[in-house]
Amino acid sequence: MTTHLMNTYARQPVAFVRGEGAYLWDESGKRYLDAVAGVAVNGLGHAHPKLVKAICEQAAALIHSSNLYRIPQQEELAERLCALSGMDRAFFCNSGCEANEAAIKLARLYGHGKGIEVPTIIVMEKSFHGRTMATLTASGSRKIQAGFEPLLSGFARVPFNDIEAIRQVGEHNKSVVAVLVEVVQGEGGINVLAAEFLVELRRICDAHGWLLMLDEVQTGIGRTGAWFGFQHSGVAPDVMALAKGLGSGVPIGACLARGEAAEVFKPGSHGSTFGGNPLACATALATLDAIEEENLLENARLRGEAIRSGLRQALASVPGVVEIRGEGMMIGIELDRPCAELVAVARDAGVLINVTSDTVIRLVPPLIYGEAEVNALVAAVSGMVKSYLQQAA
Ligand SMILES: *Cc1c(COP(=O)(O)O)cnc(C)c1O
Repeated sequence: MTTHLMNTYARQPVAFVRGEGAYLWDESGKRYLDAVAGVAVNGLGHAHPKLVKAICEQAAALIHSSNLYRIPQQEELAERLCALSGMDRAFFCNSGCEANEAAIKLARLYGHGKGIEVPTIIVMEKSFHGRTMATLTASGSRKIQAGFEPLLSGFARVPFNDIEAIRQVGEHNKSVVAVLVEVVQGEGGINVLAAEFLVELRRICDAHGWLLMLDEVQTGIGRTGAWFGFQHSGVAPDVMALAKGLGSGVPIGACLARGEAAEVFKPGSHGSTFGGNPLACATALATLDAIEEENLLENARLRGEAIRSGLRQALASVPGVVEIRGEGMMIGIELDRPCAELVAVARDAGVLINVTSDTVIRLVPPLIYGEAEVNALVAAVSGMVKSYLQQAA
């Protein structure tokens, strides 16, 4: 019964009771191949033995103590994330929107520190940064904003991948302090930021003294086949938001900063009761360990490429398929028509997929896929796309 839950989700009529690796089982015992991974969260798949062990051991020792005290697991996680990313400091929170909220607050404080009274952050069309008031304002979707006005001021929006538009804003708006962008737009339809764009954006940010802030909530922690999406371009951000894959489902988010940006927050600037507690940090550390030990970055790169090339082969001459794109285990299949109903078709066939931005099938499988899962996913998805396009035509 859902009558006592607020009506915030259009939920599918299925509940899962168990998971193992890349598979989930529902209440009736039916098995599903998971290509959603809890919306790009369960990078290690389900019930990963080392992760489960780390969670149990930490829960038995200490779940929470608060940020009134030192938290060794938090210190270790900050050190690990900084070593992997080249960033200098981390702030821990509990979700993606909170990680972006921290980035937005950091950018505003940085701006005020430079004497800019109304600091402005450049954001992108079709972006998604979360559902808090600041992050829904930053998001480029009217659907997410409608009804929640007044929105915040201090944001300027430009088209995705349009470097000239950013240059224009920079010329006319002297209050810009930062640019916030996803390396691959997830909710927006698996739109990949051009590597040249990021290189040029870094140059512009340096020239103006703006912070380059990357929302890697979905792309971070191996999802694109590198630890962080920006590492494909060789361009380093000043601020980076993480969440989804970081805790493998135990809620944790992080805002990392480098250089001058890392020194902006002072005691009292920002905080969180739960943020970076021993349980969440131990889980994140175990997640990083497993990604390293099992070579999951390379696996994500190779399996993701195999899924894309398999889909391209199977759907090569099929009218209605606009594009197959993505990076690592972030895969988009854009059709020329809305295709939300494919989610139920796939589910009935025992495959969990997602549709975003109306016309884009989004596949964000666990990073642990093997060849069997790749082949099963390609066969199932290409088959149902073909028959869907034929029947709708
Ligand atoms: C999911 C997501 C968020 C929001 O994360 P929550 O944990 O739901 O607050 C923000 N940015 C991006 C890019 C995301 O994919």
